[in-house]
Amino acid sequence: MVNADDVELIRLRSWRSAAMGYSVCVFLVRDQLIDTGFPGARDTVARLLDERRPRGIVVTHQHEDHAGNVTLAADRGIPIAMARSTEEALRAGEANVGFYRRACWGAMARLRSAIEPHRPVGLELLAMPGHSPDHHVVWDAEREILFAGDLFLGVKVRVARPMEDPRALAQSARRAAALRPRVLFDAHRGLVPNGAQALAAKAAWLEETIGAVDEHIARGWSDRAITRAVLGREDVVAAVSRGDLSRLNFVRAVRATAVRPAG
Ligand SMILES: [Zn+2]
Repeated sequence: MVNADDVELIRLRSWRSAAMGYSVCVFLVRDQLIDTGFPGARDTVARLLDERRPRGIVVTHQHEDHAGNVTLAADRGIPIAMARSTEEALRAGEANVGFYRRACWGAMARLRSAIEPHRPVGLELLAMPGHSPDHHVVWDAEREILFAGDLFLGVKVRVARPMEDPRALAQSARRAAALRPRVLFDAHRGLVPNGAQALAAKAAWLEETIGAVDEHIARGWSDRAITRAVLGREDVVAAVSRGDLSRLNFVRAVRATAVRPAG
């Protein structure tokens, strides 16, 4: 798909990811590729790199559905821009990647290749943590296009991974909304209609929900009781991911980052 803004959206899925209901997008813009897809899409990404020869790659964060083919690109000598924290995470490798993630996306090997740094052209990497500590968005200021990686995902996302920080995510969503993007691309949902409003709505929902969790924490409620009261019962996602993606994680993260009153 090429739209009026010269953004080409390429949706990647494998039979495994499709069976589990997942896919992820990479984007070609200004002759640069945003993100590299997941290990299970290796052949498609290799073909894309060989046919299109982007002048550089910009990686939003360390997760395997975004950084899954960094090695493939690095070994082709394609320059890559990513945060130092992302590169460090890729070189360290993530311990304990849940079974459902490996089944869906394929296993990502640790990064061992040398990276030729890329200086993004007409694009900026902006730190917007929360989804992961190293999460960045890619901003095309001239065209007012925001490639949000996994910042958005949806307005009301009640589940979280252990690595997530909902307070940081709320701040990032506010900052992203303040950019007033004319066009918003989400790595999983693709083009998001009314992106700036959607980001503001997400920030508002997160702030309200975190506030409700904080109130219950102050009243001495347990994490499980707060989860049921504020976010509702766990659904099938928590069971399938064995708790890796759960509502309880959201509450735990809010408690872990709570500012304790002095004294
Ligand atoms: Zn992610």
